[in-house]
Amino acid sequence: MKIHYNMSLAEKTTFGIGEVVPYFIEIINREDLIQAINFIKENQLFYFILGEGSNTIGIDKKLPLAILHPNNHQVIYKIEDKEFHFRLPTSVQYKEFYQITIDEDLLDVVNFYCEKNKRIQIIADAGINWDYFVFFNILHGIGHFTAMSGIPGKVGSTPIQNVGAYGEEIKNFVREVETLLLENRTTTQKIFSNSECQFRYRDSILKKHLNRFYIEKVIFDVSLEKDITIKYPELEKTFYKEKDLFRLNDFEESSIKSETIKQYFQLRKCVYSIRRKKGMILDGVYSKSAGSFFTNPILTEEEFLQVQKRINHIPYFKENEHYKIPAAWLIEYAGIQKGEKNFHNNVGISPLHALALINYGARFNDLKEFIKYIQEKVYKKTNIILNPEPIFMEDFIYKI
Ligand SMILES: Cc1cc2nc3c(=O)[nH]c(=O)nc-3n(C[C@H](O)[C@H](O)[C@H](O)COP(=O)(O)OP(=O)(O)OC[C@H]3O[C@@H](n4cnc5c(N)ncnc54)[C@H](O)[C@@H]3O)c2cc1C
Repeated sequence: MKIHYNMSLAEKTTFGIGEVVPYFIEIINREDLIQAINFIKENQLFYFILGEGSNTIGIDKKLPLAILHPNNHQVIYKIEDKEFHFRLPTSVQYKEFYQITIDEDLLDVVNFYCEKNKRIQIIADAGINWDYFVFFNILHGIGHFTAMSGIPGKVGSTPIQNVGAYGEEIKNFVREVETLLLENRTTTQKIFSNSECQFRYRDSILKKHLNRFYIEKVIFDVSLEKDITIKYPELEKTFYKEKDLFRLNDFEESSIKSETIKQYFQLRKCVYSIRRKKGMILDGVYSKSAGSFFTNPILTEEEFLQVQKRINHIPYFKENEHYKIPAAWLIEYAGIQKGEKNFHNNVGISPLHALALINYGARFNDLKEFIKYIQEKVYKKTNIILNPEPIFMEDFIYKI
């Protein structure tokens, strides 16, 4: 295991709040994890598992805390009797996407089995960068994750809140999540099947037991298909209207081995373009963010009808018996404007999207006050409670 001493949580989380922690431990394999756990026990430390910190608000108190940082990086593709092994980056700068090499054998096999609609299993280590994983799959003709392009973070964090965007969610592709239970001075392996994960909108059993289970690998299972599917109307509309405007760069042009791959590249560009306009890509001015800061409230039919009596034009998406209300709409309806900041000017609503908060130099308490301000205004106007999406580290640090 590799220990980095005195690392700033503000630098290790995208929202940029947090104190210096004494120990930041990179975990590459099971042995590293066991050693780290012993180290934590011996030194009576608190611990917290942290990926790329894009959904975590750091703690800004000095504590005897060890961060466990998954950095394993193998991915295995299994189809029929064939297996392909690769090592993928654990975090990337955007330009590094184009230093990738296509594996012609995997590509041929995917193409071959596409015709027969076979399934492929992808066993991905938790430490791999998610967006690189999406890109690597597209390059090899596996486009299922394309709608979830541009989401920051690691593969291992995706099952926690059932990551999703533009009509797709991780739950649609996860077969199993391999974890270790960190409890009672032992580490026991526990494999969660898809149904055991109890995936819901931005939720799973793993989120309910945050930091109890260390995710080592995520196993995806997808059917190989030639046709691209887009499940989200806004994305579909933009894609078919503006497809030809999404120019591929030289690298992408040279690596297109089929019409399907070309379409997925274009779809990825389209997703990036939509996300960028909303400030949902971490390469812009408003990148001290945790993405969407509040989840869209889910109401029962009875609750929804009550609200609708008062606000008859309230927008919603009906999902089974439930009604999902866009949190961004609620915020603006409550009279909070895009770009609005707190009294100290150190935290505010993104000028690009009402659902994203931007840190301009806030302390944790400034953020907490601003969250309360938003929640109270929304509640007063709508009787609906907004819940934050990111994880507040201070609520989930434990000792072993
Ligand atoms: C600009 C921006 C856009 C975003 N867009 C989206 C979006 O479209 N859809 C969406 O769903 N999310 C989105 N997010 C949120 C975030 O990117 C995802 O939730 C992502 O999966 C978090 O990954 P991470 O590695 O950064 O997790 P972290 O923030 O490091 O961790 C998140 C939680 O997972 C736990 N965790 C991490 N790794 C492990 C592990 N190996 N084992 C056990 N627990 C672990 C941590 O303890 C923590 O509680 C966005 C965030 C940003 C900043």
